[in-house]
Amino acid sequence: MSSDTNHHDHTHDDHGQETPSATALRVKALESLLVEKGLVDPAALDAIVDAYETKIGPRNGARVVARAWTDPAYKARLIADATSAIEEIGFVGSDRPHMIVVENTPSVHNLVVCTLCSCYPWLVLGLPPVWYKSSAYRSRAVIDPRGVLNDFGLTLEEGVAVRVWDSTAELRYLVLPERPAGTEGMHEDALAELVTRDSMVGVAKVAAPKEAAP
Ligand code: FE
Repeated sequence: MSSDTNHHDHTHDDHGQETPSATALRVKALESLLVEKGLVDPAALDAIVDAYETKIGPRNGARVVARAWTDPAYKARLIADATSAIEEIGFVGSDRPHMIVVENTPSVHNLVVCTLCSCYPWLVLGLPPVWYKSSAYRSRAVIDPRGVLNDFGLTLEEGVAVRVWDSTAELRYLVLPERPAGTEGMHEDALAELVTRDSMVGVAKVAAPKEAAP
């Protein structure tokens, strides 16, 4: 990893609209070969990638969020030093990217982007979704965050401030979403089930459980 912390580190593989990296090409070639030889079903590969994007990866982040919702002391540690507080739960990255957790409140909504490429808190969210890496999201999230949120089906009230956080290779942001109403008696594990990837990137809120909905 680069020792220069002031600039975006472009040593990682996914650079959006730029030329695919050597690693990406090798992966693609391997995938084509496995499919051609009948060793891998492309639909199965898609299912695996989808699982890491939406299910397996984000479960780590969901556990962090649920702990913060139920343990005020943990939440204070998470806001003060997210890297250590996330490691406390057992998620330790080999390159220890510095983590910052930004908290949504009734008056502040946070949104995470990487404007230059696709830096993503993979330790807690897994693989980034395709839209996160798209040039449309990367540019519009900064210029028109409310428009982006509308596209995701999230319309914020007028008085709510939107803060956009630009991730880098050395600094990854995770949104601590608001705990939904109607979850007061819920256990940490059940709460974690409610927390979605999108809510931790900041393009959605965490919905109340169906039983508790009015
Ligand atoms: Fe990046």
